[in-house]
Amino acid sequence: MQTERLVVFRDRSPAATAHLQIVPRKHIDNLNDLRRSPEDHALVLEMLETWREVLQRMHPGAKLRFGFHRPPFNSVLHLHMHGKALPYLDGAPTWKYHTWTPWWLPVEVVLKSLAPAGDAEASAAAAVPSDGGSQRSWPPDGEGGAV
Ligand SMILES: [Zn+2]
Repeated sequence: MQTERLVVFRDRSPAATAHLQIVPRKHIDNLNDLRRSPEDHALVLEMLETWREVLQRMHPGAKLRFGFHRPPFNSVLHLHMHGKALPYLDGAPTWKYHTWTPWWLPVEVVLKSLAPAGDAEASAAAAVPSDGGSQRSWPPDGEGGAV
């Protein structure tokens, strides 16, 4: 599955009923390389919206979860967003995806942090179904940078 800007494949060790990895064609190492900017915000939003629709169509009524592994806990050196339709599979390593852990960032937290300041529409778009992690913050400004 692919679009002009994104490639999508099934996670090699699926944790949920459906488990996709959504990857931009443009090489981005990891979350630290994303910046608060219209471009990066639009990219992440596209990653979310395109595949939220696909997953919802494939699994009507399923709870969907989208998010990123945070450096240094990402195992692949290319930015990828996990998209899952729950339930989790029996015995799946769900600890990798818990919102209260330091290594997982739900997409709504990332979108909020990337939204250009004062962009009400962008903030509204970030109000996707949450699994409780949205009060967390993640700073794309300032420190971080190329790793
Ligand atoms: Zn990952």
